[in-house]
Amino acid sequence: MPVIGMATSNFFLVKDVYEAVKFARENEFSGVEIWSDVPHCYVDDFTRDKEQWSRLHTLLTESKMKSALHAPMFGINIASINHGIRKESIRQVKASIDLAHTLGSEIVVFHSGKRPAVITPSRVKELTFNLNIDAIMAIKNYAREKKVYAVLENCGVDRDDYEESLADFVHLVETCKINVCWDVGHSHCSWGVKETFESLKDKIKHIHIHDNDRSYDQHLPVGMGNIDYQLIFPFLKEFPGMIVHEIQGMNNCEEKTIQSKKELDKLLRY
Ligand SMILES: [Zn+2]
Repeated sequence: MPVIGMATSNFFLVKDVYEAVKFARENEFSGVEIWSDVPHCYVDDFTRDKEQWSRLHTLLTESKMKSALHAPMFGINIASINHGIRKESIRQVKASIDLAHTLGSEIVVFHSGKRPAVITPSRVKELTFNLNIDAIMAIKNYAREKKVYAVLENCGVDRDDYEESLADFVHLVETCKINVCWDVGHSHCSWGVKETFESLKDKIKHIHIHDNDRSYDQHLPVGMGNIDYQLIFPFLKEFPGMIVHEIQGMNNCEEKTIQSKKELDKLLRY
């Protein structure tokens, strides 16, 4: 059976990270994915301030919940053609690996670096590919030293995401031999759930789940879009890692998170 987790980012504008973890515990989630970016659990603040990370560590331990981290994302680009931004981006992802190690979390989720412009000439895309490979390998090797799994999330939903196609993403994954955070919602509104699953299934180490109607990346509760869960239900049911509900929570985020969990729990009980 999978660990059913909740992303603390569901609440990042309305609860601090401690309140979000308590909410997860009270609502019978068995795991949390901690958003290690502003304004929640920004890596540098938490790593510097022992009181903050030890309070979070104690809360996770007392709650007996598995944890994972989502690396910083705002303004981050691990394959930026701007050297300073690239270097700082890789540093912050590595810092989140350090924080995961400190908190006893097994997984750090991160994104590939973005293209410098929406219309990118092929030789610039090739440069971004090579910068991505260098960055992903550096992050993967650093995580291995810290006994943490760094997993690359499939995006392909924003206009400047590096991976314009499933083939682009698979090429990155196979070149780097890296494990994957399969974002089911992202795959539904980009390359297709079945197609993405078939290409990545042997690499999936962690899952993000949310729904949409394929028009854009809506992060709706499970069951509120039109994903056909029957396609992947046997895999989800036997998945040994964490399935994280990652719901857009600007309004009614508590209700939406609980609704999503109930719907998936119902599916998994079949
Ligand atoms: Zn995701």
